[in-house]
Amino acid sequence: MSLENVQEDLEAERSPADVVCYAGGVQKQSANAAAFKFGGSSLLGADCMLHAAGLVRAATRESRVTVVVSAMKGVTDHLLSIAHALAQGKLAYARREAELVLDLHLSVLGDLQLDEDDDVRVRRELQLLGCDLLHEVRVHDRVAATAELFDRLASFGERFSARLFAAALEKLGISAVPVTSSEFVLTCDTFRDAQPHLEQTKERGRAILLPLLQEGIVPVVTGFIGATPDGRITTLGRNSSDFSGAIIAHVVDADELVIWTDVDGIYTANPKESVEARLLHELSYDEAHALAANGAKVLHAKVLPLAAETEMVVWVRNTFNPLARGTRIGSPRLPGASKGASQAPVQHFVESSQRGGVA
Ligand code: ADP
Ligand code: ASP
Ligand code: MG
Repeated sequence: MSLENVQEDLEAERSPADVVCYAGGVQKQSANAAAFKFGGSSLLGADCMLHAAGLVRAATRESRVTVVVSAMKGVTDHLLSIAHALAQGKLAYARREAELVLDLHLSVLGDLQLDEDDDVRVRRELQLLGCDLLHEVRVHDRVAATAELFDRLASFGERFSARLFAAALEKLGISAVPVTSSEFVLTCDTFRDAQPHLEQTKERGRAILLPLLQEGIVPVVTGFIGATPDGRITTLGRNSSDFSGAIIAHVVDADELVIWTDVDGIYTANPKESVEARLLHELSYDEAHALAANGAKVLHAKVLPLAAETEMVVWVRNTFNPLARGTRIGSPRLPGASKGASQAPVQHFVESSQRGGVA
């Protein structure tokens, strides 16, 4: 484990061979692939979404980026409380709360201030999702609180946020499409804690994601959710969007997974609770796993075995402080080796912020 006193070097090193410039040098295509996962705290409202989208835009100059999103902070809890209300027969309350969830996302859309055509299009998408949500609430008389119902309702948070995040990217001039991960993340039917079938997920996911990446489109994939072979929505467990990030990074053969969150990286203890907590700069997969398994909520423990197996470098970085280097998890770096794509956003983000290009 290496602690905070490591010299921070924000210069991104990159191999010229990784970047192919087209005529005029405007459009770049890279062999690098990165997956960026944004947690709920990074997505809370239009300003946060545009800021996070700015980080993605900067990274697309160096890498093919696939985005994985959580629900906006608090939304999954809200949806689960609706499931509880349904189970208790509180239908009017459940319906009101479901309408509030839709209104929340519509108000973020309003705050994004898209062009009129885009606003109309995305509003329609959100309203269609809202109809599905309200339908879930309407069709049930008093229902058994099945785990399947909980997962179906909980899935709406990521489905809403993926649409909004794709819209935020489009606003910044980046082609993006929302992708619902239940289209390809195949799981068992242990609702609320479903296990993915990795090989089938990889095959199905590549068929959906690679053509988008080849077209220069950023897929914005829902974290947290999958589906059984017969198409019933599952979730991978609470806080599992990090795990989805690792799964989707594996699907697209990403060199790096960046977990963007609201602290500067992984600390020796929760930095919001302990003034003694110290930032850890470098961790092995085993060290990170031990911290995550002992309750460091900043990173879901299931990320680490998959990352270790595929030798994927995982970074934990602060969306709100992109100049901070973050925590790197991986095999020890050889002297002189490239830092990879994850540092590139810092450089470009700073450049474009200075030009006023990032919201
Ligand atoms: P996100 O919304 O980005 O998924 P989470 O709330 O799941 O964020 O995780 C980030 C939070 O994890 C931090 O705000 C921090 O309070 C908490 N945390 C707990 N233990 C640690 C730790 N050892 N290092 C860093 N953060 C930690
Ligand atoms: N939205 C889900 C949850 O709150 C997954 C996640 O955020 O990681 O549990
Ligand atoms: Mg989290």
